[in-house]
Amino acid sequence: MPRRSYRFREYILKPDQAADAEPTRFVMQCVACEFFGPKGEDAEDGTEWATEHLKQRPDHLVYREHITRTYRFEAGEWQ
Ligand SMILES: [Zn+2]
Repeated sequence: MPRRSYRFREYILKPDQAADAEPTRFVMQCVACEFFGPKGEDAEDGTEWATEHLKQRPDHLVYREHITRTYRFEAGEWQ
């Protein structure tokens, strides 16, 4: 009876650079009240929102940045 052999391919997980990849999105959250700023493709928007939020609530000093980044496996060598 012949032995079965299996070949495996290496895959490398990388941030998705494809033309149709979902854009990376950023959103800032106030840790004190858990309010979120606008979700957008520019991290700077969250920084501006946090600055405005601090003006309204001077005691809200800590913020959490959430980043949504799509990854894709790229096929590599056969083993
Ligand atoms: Zn707040």
